[in-house]
Amino acid sequence: MIEENMKSVDEAIGGACGRAGRARDEVTLIAVSKTKPVSLLREAYDAGARDFGENRVQELLDKIPELPSDIRWHMIGHLQRNKVKYIVDKVAMIHSVDSVRLAEEISREAVKKGVFVDILIEVNVAGEESKFGAAVWEVPKMVEEIAGMPSVRIRGLMTIAPYTEDPEENRQFFRDLKKLSVDIEHKNIDNVDMSVLSMGMTGDYSVAIEEGATCVRVGTGIFGERRPQQ
Ligand SMILES: *Cc1c(COP(=O)(O)O)cnc(C)c1O
Repeated sequence: MIEENMKSVDEAIGGACGRAGRARDEVTLIAVSKTKPVSLLREAYDAGARDFGENRVQELLDKIPELPSDIRWHMIGHLQRNKVKYIVDKVAMIHSVDSVRLAEEISREAVKKGVFVDILIEVNVAGEESKFGAAVWEVPKMVEEIAGMPSVRIRGLMTIAPYTEDPEENRQFFRDLKKLSVDIEHKNIDNVDMSVLSMGMTGDYSVAIEEGATCVRVGTGIFGERRPQQ
């Protein structure tokens, strides 16, 4: 089942790239495997997945040693500062940096461990009260403050768009995130590039790709429905 799901997601990504006049290799599919057992991650790996997304530190730490070492792990969930030390040298990218203080902690731990950490700034583009992420207006100043920190590199922006039945409703939010990323890119800040735009989930990744996503985070579309997390 997972192999077929991966195939249809891949086809949909290809279709969206085609409509947007983009090359297929501009978009990375992140298989969001939270709550799913290692056996299913292994199936996705065998079907070609190399980028996996998890949203909890402990789950990430439990899964990493169980799976092949060429997997790029993406931390996509809310991250507490006291847990940063466990993951900085284990993940390819942290998508969920939403405060200067969190970035400071990542920088401090990265320096200690002698690694560079790629991060994205999580933006609450829709201004939803229930969501983490920086407000759009806060982001440029945050980026400037974080740019000066050693051993972290801002690579772009991430957003979790509202849940909706109609992905068209999120198109404007994806456009807003793209616009913010272009505005920041134009500032030419040292140590900052805006090459990554992590947006789009199972319900809306095609629209996100049409609007410029370079990473889509797909869970349900690959692994099936999840039980609700507490
Ligand atoms: C769970 C999750 C996803 C995947 O959601 P689906 O709708 O199952 O594709 C993507 N991004 C984040 C941050 C998530 O927590």
